[in-house]
Amino acid sequence: MTTTTSVPQRQTRRPAAALRKAKREAQRQADQLTDQITTRGQQQQELAKAAAALTQGYLTQAEVLAWQQQVNARLDALLQHSEQNLGFAEEELAPLGNQLLRLGAERLAQAKANATPCRCSKCDLELQHQKYLSRKIDSRFGPLLIFRRYGQCPGCQQWHFPADAALGLQANAPASPYVQEISAVLVTKMPPEQACAVAQRFGLDLGRCFLDREAHRQGLKAQAARAAFTGQLDSLEGLQKLPRATDGPPIQPFSLVIEIDAWNIRERDDWGLTEQLRQEGKDPSRWHWVYMGTVFRLDHCGQTAGKRAIISQRGYVATRLGIEDLLRHLYREALERGLGQAQDVLVLADGAMWIWNAFDDRFKDARQRLDLWHAEEHLWEVANDLYGKSTPEARAFVTPLLEQLREDQTLEVIQSLTNLKSRLESALSEKVEKQIEYFSNHKNRMHYKELIEARKARDDGTATPEQLLKAQEPLGSGAIESTCRQYQCRFKRTGQFWTTAGDEALMCLETFWRNDRWHVLYPHANHLTRNLPALN
Ligand SMILES: [Zn+2]
Repeated sequence: MTTTTSVPQRQTRRPAAALRKAKREAQRQADQLTDQITTRGQQQQELAKAAAALTQGYLTQAEVLAWQQQVNARLDALLQHSEQNLGFAEEELAPLGNQLLRLGAERLAQAKANATPCRCSKCDLELQHQKYLSRKIDSRFGPLLIFRRYGQCPGCQQWHFPADAALGLQANAPASPYVQEISAVLVTKMPPEQACAVAQRFGLDLGRCFLDREAHRQGLKAQAARAAFTGQLDSLEGLQKLPRATDGPPIQPFSLVIEIDAWNIRERDDWGLTEQLRQEGKDPSRWHWVYMGTVFRLDHCGQTAGKRAIISQRGYVATRLGIEDLLRHLYREALERGLGQAQDVLVLADGAMWIWNAFDDRFKDARQRLDLWHAEEHLWEVANDLYGKSTPEARAFVTPLLEQLREDQTLEVIQSLTNLKSRLESALSEKVEKQIEYFSNHKNRMHYKELIEARKARDDGTATPEQLLKAQEPLGSGAIESTCRQYQCRFKRTGQFWTTAGDEALMCLETFWRNDRWHVLYPHANHLTRNLPALN
C-alpha cells in the first residue's frame, strides 16, 4: 500500500517542479514579450514622431556614404569573379540601388503626407478627432512605411485619410500607383501566374493573388472612369464638354468608319459547383457574347511600304454587358473621334442582323457596307454544296457570281440563285433559299464597284484625288475582326474560365490602353504611354 502511495507522491512532486520551472519560463517569455512590445511601441512612437517632423525627402550624407561603401564592396566582389558576365552585376546591383531609392521614396511620401491638409475633400471641412496611423505601401523600390493623419468629417461624418488620396493610394490596397499600373499592364497581357514570374524577373516581388486582386481593382477603376466618360451623354453639363462640330479651327473634311463584331467568352457562373453539375450531366461553363466596336477616321488610314494597311489612330469599345452598353460606349467613342464633325459616316460588319439593327438604332444616317469577304463566302458555300469543296466545278460556278458581286449587280446574283433553286432537290434548295434571303437582306449594303475601281486606279497611278480618297475605304470589317482576335489571345486561352465581373473589368482596362487613355488612370505615366502600340 505504502509503495503504491509513495510512487504517486514522488511522481506528483516531479511534475510540480517541472511545472514551476515551466511557469517561470513562461513568465520570463511574457516579460520579454511585454518588453518587446513596449520597445516596439516606443520605437513606433519615435518613428511616428520622426515621421511627423519630416518636411523633405532628403537622404543624409551619412546614409549615402554607407550605401556607397556597400556598393563599392559589391563591385569589388563582382570583379573577383572573372567567370561572371555583366548579367550578374545587373542582377546584384539593382536591389542595392533600390535600397537607397526606397529610403528616398519613403521619406518623400512621408513629407507629402505631412503636407496634406487634414480636411474632407468633399465638404472641405477640417477633420475632427485627428489621429496618426501607419500604413505599409508596396512600391517600385520595396515596402514603404508611412504615418498619416486621419479624422472624422463634421459634415459627412465619414472618417478620411486625406494623405492616402494625395499619394494616389486606394483604400485597403497596399499597391503604390506604379505597382497598381504594373499589375494592370501585366495582367491585361497575360494570366496572373505568368505575370507573377515576369514581375519577379523585373525585380518586383508580387504574388499571383496580389496581381490578380490588384488588376481586378484597377479594372473596376477603369470601369468607373468609362462610366463617367460615357455618362457625359446624360447630363447637360456633360454634353457641353463633348467635342462639337463648331469647336476649333475649320478642318479638312473627313469620313468616319465604324465597325462592329462579336466573339464568345467562356464563363463559369456556378463556382464551386462544378463536380455537382458534372454529375448531373450539366456543363458548368457557359459561352457569352463579348461585343466589340472600333471607330476611326479615313484620313488616319494608310499603307506601309510593304502595302500593309495601317490605322494611326483608333477608338475601341469592348463589353460583355450587352448590345445596349456596346452602343452607348461606341456612340461616345465615335463623338470623341469626330462623329459630330465628320462629313460622312461609313459602317461595316458581317451579316449578323443584330449589328445592322444596332447601326440603324445609333448611326441611322450612316452609309452601310456588308463585309465583301463574308458576302463572297456565302457564294462559295453554294458552290461547295453543289459541286464539292473547292473543286474546279465549284470555282467555275462561283466565278461569274463573284464578278457580279464586285460589279454591284446584287439583283442579278439573287436572280441567278433563284433560277438555280427551282432546279434543285429540297435539301439543297433550302440551303440556296437561305443564301437568297441573305443577299436580299443585305442588297442595299453591297456597293463595292466604285471602291474597287478607285483602288485599281491608285495602283495604276491614274487615280483622281477623289479616287485616292475613296481607295482608303475598307471593303470589309477586317479592322474589328483583327481586334477581336487580339482580345481573344488574352481572354480565350485553353482552360480559361471567367466571371462576368472579372472579364468585364479586365477588358475595360485593356481598352483604356488601346484608346490611348492610360494616363487617365495613371497620370504618372502620361508622357510615357501616349500612342503606345497594342501589345498582344
Ligand atoms: Zn465630409
